[in-house]
Amino acid sequence: AKASGKACYHFYNREMNLRATRRLEIERELRHALERNQLTLYYQPIVNAVTATLEGCEVLLRWQHPDRGLVSPAHFIPVAEETGLIVPIGEWVLRQACKQAQKWRTAGLGLNFISVNISANQLRGHSLVSLVRGALEESQLPPGALELELTEGSLLPNTLTARDVLEEIRAMGVRLVADDFGTGYSSLSYLKIFRFDKIKIDCQFVRDMLEDAGDAAIARATIAMAHAFDAKVVGEGVETPRQAEELARYGCDQLQGYLFDKPLPEPEFSQRLPGQRG
Ligand code: C2E
Ligand code: CA
Ligand code: CA
Ligand code: CA
Repeated sequence: AKASGKACYHFYNREMNLRATRRLEIERELRHALERNQLTLYYQPIVNAVTATLEGCEVLLRWQHPDRGLVSPAHFIPVAEETGLIVPIGEWVLRQACKQAQKWRTAGLGLNFISVNISANQLRGHSLVSLVRGALEESQLPPGALELELTEGSLLPNTLTARDVLEEIRAMGVRLVADDFGTGYSSLSYLKIFRFDKIKIDCQFVRDMLEDAGDAAIARATIAMAHAFDAKVVGEGVETPRQAEELARYGCDQLQGYLFDKPLPEPEFSQRLPGQRG
């Protein structure tokens, strides 16, 4: 028993070293990525659930790696969060996204809002308030054209600070969005503590909604609850016309998913915008 315990310890140690080395490697590369302009933004349309016309978009980060190609945020966002690199990266994303949105607006392209993901580390302290204010000022984007997406995971660890910070940002006229709603363990009071303007039904419920009565019930209950709080609802991960119809029938306000468009890089995305000539 002792021997195997020791072997286990060694194995564990080696695993840890590997993970640490790999993390350092990604961390070093990520730092370069920011300096060398390898980070880029993709935009995914969010449409009106009844008319399917474009209302806004979600901003999604991509890493154009010199050897590995386009790296998904699922691979590097966790490392960026662990290492704190998400703070400078998140700052770049927000400022870049606001500038881009204002460019579209001044070009007369119809887009009511952009929606930017915010992670937990960005909510530590009060610097998010000045970042948002600065990004709006330098881009001249009206606050009403900006939405921030937040997950339970980012809000619950330091509820009181997060609430103060978000109330201050909301007072500027920026809208707050509850992302991945229903995937965590939050109680209904979560919706009372944080005053969300919009709630996103997670794609896991949309995916199985037509076959699984439980998922359909969650989607419908989320819509009813959001509306009771005067919030709008977005259905995420909509891939089929039947899912879109069903969500619209439940009263869902907006839809997002491959059925309408994948996340697109800038030239492709703006060609989709109403008001685009040619
Ligand atoms: P998320 O915020 O839940 O973003 C939605 C994800 O669903 C995106 O994955 C999007 O490409 C994908 N998606 C959209 N439509 C469909 C569909 O019809 N079917 C399916 N199966 N998936 C769909 P993506 O772009 O890989 O991003 C993954 C996650 O990385 C995001 O999840 C978000 O948590 C994080 N992320 C992305 N960009 C940023 C960022 O700028 N900052 C932060 N903090 N996190 C980000
Ligand atoms: Ca999101
Ligand atoms: Ca989501
Ligand atoms: Ca299910």
